[in-house]
Order: sequence, then C-alpha cells, then structure tokens
Amino acid sequence: MYKQAIAKEILDFTDTVKKFVKKDCEPIDDLIEAQGKIPEPVVQKVRDLGLYGMTIPTEYGGLGIGATGYCLVAKQMGWAHGAFRSLIAVNNGIGSQAILLAGSEEQKQKYLPDLAAGKKLSCFCLTEPGAGSDAGAMTTTAVKDGKFWVLNGLKHFITNAPIADVFTVLALNDKEKRTKGGITAFIVDKGTPGLKIGQLHEHMGSKAAHQSEVIFEDCRVPEENVIGKVGEGFRTAMKTLDIGRLTLAASCIGYAEKLLKMGSDYAKVRVQFGKPIAEFQAIQWMLADCATEIYAADCMMLDAALRYDAGERQGALASMAKLYASEIACKVADRVLQIHGGMGYMVETKVERYYRELRLYRLVEGTSEIQRLVISRAVLKDELQI
Ligand SMILES: Cc1cc2nc3c(=O)[nH]c(=O)nc-3n(C[C@H](O)[C@H](O)[C@H](O)COP(=O)(O)OP(=O)(O)OC[C@H]3O[C@@H](n4cnc5c(N)ncnc54)[C@H](O)[C@@H]3O)c2cc1C
Repeated sequence: MYKQAIAKEILDFTDTVKKFVKKDCEPIDDLIEAQGKIPEPVVQKVRDLGLYGMTIPTEYGGLGIGATGYCLVAKQMGWAHGAFRSLIAVNNGIGSQAILLAGSEEQKQKYLPDLAAGKKLSCFCLTEPGAGSDAGAMTTTAVKDGKFWVLNGLKHFITNAPIADVFTVLALNDKEKRTKGGITAFIVDKGTPGLKIGQLHEHMGSKAAHQSEVIFEDCRVPEENVIGKVGEGFRTAMKTLDIGRLTLAASCIGYAEKLLKMGSDYAKVRVQFGKPIAEFQAIQWMLADCATEIYAADCMMLDAALRYDAGERQGALASMAKLYASEIACKVADRVLQIHGGMGYMVETKVERYYRELRLYRLVEGTSEIQRLVISRAVLKDELQI
C-alpha cells in the first residue's frame, strides 16, 4: 500500500540496495566481525552507490532521496552487518544535517559534496561527560576573539571522531541563556590546532564502529564556520536529531526482520519431542508477536518519514518511531534468542550479536526515556497531530 506514496525511482533504488546487500554484504558478515571493519573494495561499492549522501540534495552531490528513501535503504541495510550502518549513518544524518538545515551556501558547497561522496567523514559533537540527556548542561565554551571563536571543553562518546574530517560541534557562547539562545553550532576541520582525539571506550556491540572523546584546547575556529546564527545551535541540533531518529527506527526494523527470518528458519529445522519446534504453539506465538510488532513499527516509521519529507516537522513523530522500533527490536532479538534455545547464546548463531548491538539503539540519539519526554511534551502542549 505505502508503495503508491513513494516515487518509483526510490523504490527501484531500494531494490538495487537489496541486491547489493544480498550479493556483496551478507556473504562477508563473518569477515567483518572478525576484522572489525568492512573491506575497502566493498566500502568503495558503498561510495559508488551513493549511500553516503542519500539525504544530501543532488545540487550538493547527494542522491536527494529524502528521509523516506533513506529509511527504506536503512531497512535493507539492516540485513547486513551493523558496521554498514556505522559507516554511512553519520554522513547521512547527524554529521551533515546541521550544515544542510542551517549552514550558509558557502558551507554547503564546501562540505556537503565530499560528505555525499564518502571522500570525507563527519561527526557530531554534542554529548559531554556531564551533559548527556541534559545536553543543555554542556560546559564546552565558545568565546569570541576577533574573527575567531575559541573553543574549550570535552565531548565524549562521539561516533566517527577518530576517523572524521568534519566535526559539527555544539558549544556554549552564553552561560545564562544556554538552550534559549546561548549555544552555537560550529564546523571544525580535522587538523585545526587545539582539536584532539581523547580516550576510546570499548563497547558491548558494534565493534566496527569508532567513537571517542574529542578535546578542545584553545581551538580557534574562524567565524565563517558558525553554522546558522550565533545562539541558534541548540535548536539546529534538535532538528538534526529528527532525521537520525527516523533512520535509526528503520535500521532497527531491518535488523528485526532479519532476526525474525532467522527465528522462523531455525524453528522449522530444530526437532524436539519428535517434531519441528515450529509446530509448538508457544513458538508460533513468539513469531506472530515479532511479525506484528515489526509491521506496526514499519507503518509508524514510514508514516513519520513521509510526513517529514512533506515538510511536516513534528519531532514527536520521529521520537515515537524511534522509541517503538528500538524497543520492539530488542524484544524480537530476545524472543529469537529464546527460540534458538542454548544455541542462541552461542556466538556462531549470530543472534547474540544482534541482541548486543540492538541494545545501543535504546540509548543513542536520545534514550527511550528522553523520547517519551519529547512525546509527552507535545501531548501536554496539545501540539501532537497523529
Ligand atoms: C556507542 C555510542 C555512540 C554515541 N555517539 C554519539 C555521537 O556521535 N554524538 C553525540 O553527541 N553523542 C553520542 N552518544 C551519546 C548518547 O547520545 C548519550 O549516551 C545519550 O544521549 C544518553 O546520555 P548519557 O549516556 O549521558 O545518559 P544519562 O543522561 O546519564 O542518562 C542515564 C539514565 O537516566 C535517564 N534520564 C536522564 N534524564 C532523564 C529524564 N529527564 N527523565 C527520565 N529519565 C532520564 C536516561 O534515560 C538514562 O536511562 C553516543 C553514545 C553511545 C553509547
């Protein structure tokens, strides 16, 4: 049904990606897991397909397929190793969107074509050790000095930071105003004196993803690198997160679909009490619940993405899609692990890897609790239009 609402070129492109995933990505799943990275020839295919720049308009070298196109592709990519999401999600999402939404024409011309082509990588520096969910509590400062802004502070958990060329950084220019006009967004180029990469943390999943601290020590940023207006950075950052949340929902749905297939395949071949476990109602009901929740998450995500592309920017819709998809995907992983019995706990079935990886999505780009906060605020202000 939804296909009628989506341009044929986008559906055709999604089909191309589906074939790429099947032919080039799924067969190297174990290799990526063992090496902690995607082999360069496959990364080049990702570049050639334009997957780094799906949300970037064609005039800046991207594919310009919008949130809906990107979500459909992200769902297909969910059938591949999570490293693919790590590879392309930042350039398509939080790493480019602030420039796209609020940047000057010069900034767009200078940065977006290389991000779209995957020649350069980006990162988004919002979170700090003392300012996670409460991002407005940040302490990284930006002080004007002639034609420069001087940045000092520490960001952490920044995806892509160790390999990024372009850093979008949120810093405090007015401690009194904070989220109400006191935070500014900057572009900081790799190699700028005073910009340093700090500690890397080991994490429970997504081994091929890179994240680290980013340290600013008297880092001088030219004033032309301010994104949008001084003091409007927090609003830009929040808008930037909307598209990230939608596509995160789409990835969760892709992973959940793949898990459901793994659960159903296993249930058909695993024999206990003289018959395949798929014949037990307890197993059938788990599969049915997974399928129903995936379908509900998919409908929600697509509706929110289509409305986003139509110009309807209700952040609460993206939050609902992300909240629901990330939570059901974890439930699906848990049920599919249960269907596999003891084998589900073994590394070779890969279910445990999804179980670990999916846990991340209830935390990043706003925890489930923060999504509920965004949604309830819209409800209480009578702003939510479903
Ligand atoms: C692998 C990884 C990659 C990341 N990549 C990036 C990145 O690229 N850029 C970036 O800027 N950040 C990034 N982050 C940071 C991520 O967005 C934060 O971890 C997340 O926003 C939560 O902040 P926190 O970890 O400080 O948790 P906290 O804010 O300390 O939250 C702890 C708990 O308290 C709850 N809580 C907090 N406030 C409330 C409230 N008002 N009501 C109810 N419950 C509340 C939270 O939901 C959570 O359960 C990344 C994190 C991870 C783990």
